[in-house]
Amino acid sequence: MILMNGQELKKKKLQQLKEKVQKLDTIPGLCVINVNTNLESEIYTRNKKALATSLGYHFENSILCGDINEELLIQTIKNFNNDDRIDGIIIDMPLPEHLDIKKVLNSIDSSKDIDGVTYNNIGKLVSKEPCLIPSTPKAIIDLLDYYNIPLRGENVVIIGRSLIVGKPIAHILINRDATITLCHSKTLNLEYYTRNADIIIVAVGKKDFLKSNMISSGAVVIDVGINSINDKIYGDVDFNDVSKKVGYITPVPGGIGPLTVYELMENTYNAHVLRLGKK
Ligand code: NAP
Repeated sequence: MILMNGQELKKKKLQQLKEKVQKLDTIPGLCVINVNTNLESEIYTRNKKALATSLGYHFENSILCGDINEELLIQTIKNFNNDDRIDGIIIDMPLPEHLDIKKVLNSIDSSKDIDGVTYNNIGKLVSKEPCLIPSTPKAIIDLLDYYNIPLRGENVVIIGRSLIVGKPIAHILINRDATITLCHSKTLNLEYYTRNADIIIVAVGKKDFLKSNMISSGAVVIDVGINSINDKIYGDVDFNDVSKKVGYITPVPGGIGPLTVYELMENTYNAHVLRLGKK
């Protein structure tokens, strides 16, 4: 069994990115917009700020009241769209229910959409055109590539069909010639699919969801889940049980999680050089 070490890859990629940033004579910038912040989102924002400032990026954090009206939120986003110091805009999720999420997200200038959430970037991803790829799917593909996991013709089962993980990683893998099955809560006989998979990507949000009797020997298992229980983080995979049977597996924590925030920094750099026509 090989443990896929996201922390190690993050360290390597961060060093490479630092060297590229140091060669710039301009400063990439990103902003995080929090609506109705809580402890969890404050921690995530703090992590982004720490990584961004360690790279020498300009960083802004706009914290808005939970009862903000849509027009004001969209105006805030538009101000950042027009702000030359900002290359990347992240809107912390979830948003309060009175806001039209699609309308809000699509008001981000797609060239600054470093989390790949606008229709423009989603459409480009599906059409296999260059675009800003959402951070978690980007972390998954980078980790698979780092461990030289073959993708062409492989049978990949993804559990979870969210817009930020399941759907984009499905398209990325289709573009890489894998054969994809996208499963969700209405999938009948899930084990039938998972037992025949070379690679299983789990993004469900339920601790110990994937068990060893659901997989074939030697499978590659990517655990995207983050389940916080009594101040401890667990994935979606029953690690002790499943790890005995796999070829490769990501731990939680230490697998996809650490890479995800890094990918936002790489996307910010890419957005910066593209915007300034420096590539
Ligand atoms: P989500 O929006 O919470 O949706 C969960 C998905 O799991 C849905 O597609 C749902 O199906 C499916 N599902 C639920 N129960 C199921 C079952 N019994 N059998 C099969 N499928 C089932 O998904 P998400 O936002 O992608 O988050 C998933 C997990 O990944 C969470 O733990 C989250 O914290 C974590 N996450 C981690 C990162 C990271 O950086 N590591 C990033 C994002 C998310 P339906 O569509 O039918 O409801």
